Amino acid sequence: MRISVIGCGYLGAVHAACMAKLGHDVVGIDVDEVKISELSSARAPFFEPGLVELLQEVQATGRLAFTTDISAAAGSLVHFICVGTPQKKGENGADMTYVDAAATALLPHLAPGDLVVGKSTVPVGTAARLAQLVKSSEPAAEVVWNPEFLREGHAVSDTLHPDRLVFGVSNGSEDHPAVAILDEVYEAPLAAGAPRLVTDHPTAELVKAAANSFLATKISFINAMAEVCEASGADVTQLADAIGMDDRIGRKFLHAGIGFGGGCLPKDIRAFMARAGELGADQALTFLREVDAINMRRRTRVVELTRELCGGTLLGKRITVLGAAFKPDSDDVRDSPALSIAAQLQLQGAVVTVTDPKALENAAKRFPELQFEPDMHDAISRADALLLLTEWEKYRTMDPYALLSRVESARILDGRNVLDAEKWRAAGWTYRGLGRV
Ligand code: NAD
Repeated sequence: MRISVIGCGYLGAVHAACMAKLGHDVVGIDVDEVKISELSSARAPFFEPGLVELLQEVQATGRLAFTTDISAAAGSLVHFICVGTPQKKGENGADMTYVDAAATALLPHLAPGDLVVGKSTVPVGTAARLAQLVKSSEPAAEVVWNPEFLREGHAVSDTLHPDRLVFGVSNGSEDHPAVAILDEVYEAPLAAGAPRLVTDHPTAELVKAAANSFLATKISFINAMAEVCEASGADVTQLADAIGMDDRIGRKFLHAGIGFGGGCLPKDIRAFMARAGELGADQALTFLREVDAINMRRRTRVVELTRELCGGTLLGKRITVLGAAFKPDSDDVRDSPALSIAAQLQLQGAVVTVTDPKALENAAKRFPELQFEPDMHDAISRADALLLLTEWEKYRTMDPYALLSRVESARILDGRNVLDAEKWRAAGWTYRGLGRV
């Protein structure tokens, strides 16, 4: 099948490459010339495990091309919209200008029977609005909402082997002609057993908003427990283990730490609250304000703990932050809690050095005032305190004995609760986790 993918960022580039891997003829389109030139040469414009290898493999088959020219979408039967929906500046709502621009640019290239398939995370009501726009130009084209659930760091395998597929069609029914076309697009994952749910436009849009809100709530729940544990001398990691043994609760996403960040959860829960307000259902989501507040409080708490760890003052203290990306196995620093903490520490007088295996280039663009050092051992040299803020494997497996001679003071704050506290203490370190003594 001929497919166009409009917007080739973290979501779209992976989607385009994976659609080609599934056997389709794909053109990826983006307004960013640098990104398109990189992708055209089978180089990934960002770090995502397995993406470069996949780009090389599928580009060799001739089934994947990239361009900045939207007219290349003509002739495709399915057009995936994968552009960004960031938070509006100074407001909670989603900025829909990119989605609207992409859809509008696509209109002249649509033919009867074409599907415009939204994958971006959007406020409920967007699909119906875009359907009107599309029908005004090509009455025989259809809009479908097919939200994306991939996790950065696992994006390639999540796209090739999705845990579910949601098709939101205008009549919400299996007999909608778009369903058979999408079944063909996703033939391989469906044959491998991926469950699929056919529903209407608003439900499909809300599935994504609700899923992210639930995940954010679960993280903030355990971080709220961490606050109570800190106040009462309890241990949140043991508490999470114990409550997680109840399979109605489950242990996943119950990792107390510095909280969530990235290009999705924070802006998605805010956009969801804003949209509910427009719909007159704001009371239903006021709890998300608290979820957001608990999350942001963690960052301030880490700054305070670091001050304590450094003997009551941050002035002139050399702090090394291990990890800049918002999560391991990614170079994405959008709303990264690690960088937000690093910047606050610097503002309060600490001399902060940040290291990360992949995200330093992006981090330096956002926070040029911080110091960056790619080599971990150089970064920790003469540090007064180490802060593990992104749980890359290389930081999880650090040897506390080997690092002793490099630092000025053997103090570590484990912002993700991933180190063996006893082992670090036995090696002579002052160890602090979050939500545990
Ligand atoms: P991104 O910023 O990495 O990519 C967006 C891309 O769209 C950019 O390359 C940009 O140049 C391009 N673009 C903007 N306007 C365009 C236009 N008019 N025509 C063509 N291209 C255009 O963002 P992302 O992380 O890929 O997210 C995209 C969407 O997917 C968002 O709605 C996001 O919430 C959703 N999503 C992302 C993830 C994720 O893990 N990143 C997961 C699920 C859903």
